[in-house]
Amino acid sequence: MTVETMDPVEVFAAGEKGRGLRVTKELSAGDVVFAEASFAAVVFDSLSLQVCHSCFRRQPNPHRCAQCKFAHYCDRTCQRAAWDEHKQECSAIRKIGKAPNENVRLAARIMWRIKKDTGLVSDAQLTTLDLLEDHLSKMTPEDLKELKVDVQHFYSYWPKKSKVVGEDYVSHIFGVINCNGFTLCDQRGLQAVGVGLFPNLCLVNHDCWPNCTVILNHGIQTALDASFHSKRRIELRALGKISEGEELTVSYVDFLNVSKDRQRLLKQQYYFDCKCEHCTNGIKDDLMTAGREGQKPSAEVLKEVTDFSLQALVKIEEARTKGDFHEVIKICRECLQKQDPVFGDTNLHLLRVLSPASEVLSFLQQFDEASGYARRMVEGYAKLYHPNNAQLGMAIMRAGVTHWHAGQIEEGHGLICRAYAILLITHGAHHPITKDLEAMRTQTEMELRLFKQNEYVYHSMREAVLSNKPMSVAGEQVQIKATS
Ligand SMILES: [Zn+2]
Ligand SMILES: [Zn+2]
Ligand SMILES: [Zn+2]
Repeated sequence: MTVETMDPVEVFAAGEKGRGLRVTKELSAGDVVFAEASFAAVVFDSLSLQVCHSCFRRQPNPHRCAQCKFAHYCDRTCQRAAWDEHKQECSAIRKIGKAPNENVRLAARIMWRIKKDTGLVSDAQLTTLDLLEDHLSKMTPEDLKELKVDVQHFYSYWPKKSKVVGEDYVSHIFGVINCNGFTLCDQRGLQAVGVGLFPNLCLVNHDCWPNCTVILNHGIQTALDASFHSKRRIELRALGKISEGEELTVSYVDFLNVSKDRQRLLKQQYYFDCKCEHCTNGIKDDLMTAGREGQKPSAEVLKEVTDFSLQALVKIEEARTKGDFHEVIKICRECLQKQDPVFGDTNLHLLRVLSPASEVLSFLQQFDEASGYARRMVEGYAKLYHPNNAQLGMAIMRAGVTHWHAGQIEEGHGLICRAYAILLITHGAHHPITKDLEAMRTQTEMELRLFKQNEYVYHSMREAVLSNKPMSVAGEQVQIKATS
C-alpha cells in the first residue's frame, strides 16, 4: 500500500513542517483514516524473553527458537508466522553469538525488508523510506556519537555475504528510527513492549491538540488468523469531524505538560519547535499550574509546595521501581496533604501524585481510598484533555474498575460507560480493550440492577467474589509499572 493511492488522504507540502497528510473527504469521529502494518518491528531488549516476537503478547512460558535461542514465541503458529522476517536475523545472531540491541535489530530488519521487497529504489514504500526525515544534521554531538556506535554494531551484525550497504544510508535509517520509531504496546495497551516503523504514519505531523489518534490493533488472536495478528497493525482514527482538505495530525507527546515543557520535549526528541495553537497561546497552561480556588496562595508557598512535589515524585518512582508499594502510599499521602490546601484540582503536580496513589492502592486492594483518588484524577484529566483523548478513556476505565471493586457500583458503571463511549472512537468497537469494556459494561449494569433491588444481597455477593479473586483489569493482572 502506498500513500499516493491511499483513500481518503494525500501527501502535500505542509510549509516548514515539511510534508504532511491531508484528507480528501470529510471524516467523522471514530472513522479509520487508514490502517497500516509495520514495515518492520522488534521486541525491546529488556522483554525479549517474555514477549512473543511475532504477535508481541506477553507470555509466561514462551517457546524459544532452537537455533538462535534469542527469539521467543507463543507457540509454533506464531513462530511460523514470523519465520520469514526472522530467518536472516536468526543466522546473523548465531554467527555473532549474541543479539545486538533493539535499534540495530530494527535497522537490520528494515534493510532485509527493503532488499526482499524490491532491491530497487522504484518501489513506492521504499521511496517513502528514503524520503523520511532523519534529522541527522540537527542531532546533538552526544546523540550522533551514540548513533555512530549503533552503525558500527550494525556492520558487525550485517552478514558479510549480504548486499553491501553504504554508511550514509545506514546512518539515515538509524536517524529515521530515532525520530519516527513508534512504540508498540501489548494487546491490552498496558505495557510498551517494542518499537516499529510505519512509513505512512511517519508522514502525519504533530499537533499538541491533534485531530487523530494512533492505536495498535492486531485483532483477536486465534490460530486461524496468525498471519494477521502478527502483522502489528496500527489504525489512524479521527477524533472528531475533519473537513475536506484539513491536515491530519497526531500528538507525539502527552498533552499533560505545560506548553514550554511540551515544546522542550518535542525539540529534544523530534528536533522541531512546536508552533501549534495550544503552544503558541499557552492554552490550558493556567489550569495545569492552578492554585486552589479562592485560596490565592502566595508565590513562596506555591514554590515551596511545587519543590516538595517534585522531590516526592522522584521518591515515589524510586519506591515503585523497588516494589515498595507501602512506601509509595506513604509518600503520596504526605504529598497530597501538602498539596491539597494549595493546588487547584487540575494542577499537574497534584494529578501526578493522584495517579500512582490510586494505582498502587488498587493493587493493594485498598479500593475505597483508591477510588477517591481515581475520581479526582479523572475529573482533573477531563478538564485538560481533548474529550476523545485515548489516555483519558483508559484512565476513566481504570477509575471505573476501581469504583466497581470498591462496591461503588453506580459510580463504577457510570465511569465504565463514559470510558466505553471514548474508546469506541479511539480504539473502535473491535479492539480487544473495547470488547473487554463492553463485557464490563454489561456486567456492571446487571450488578447495578441487583444493587437497586437488594443492596444487602449485592454486597454479600460482591464480598464473596472479591475474597477469592485477585484484582484484574481487562482480564490481565494490573500492571504497576509505568507504561512509558
Ligand atoms: Zn505470539
Ligand atoms: Zn532464531
Ligand atoms: Zn504544541
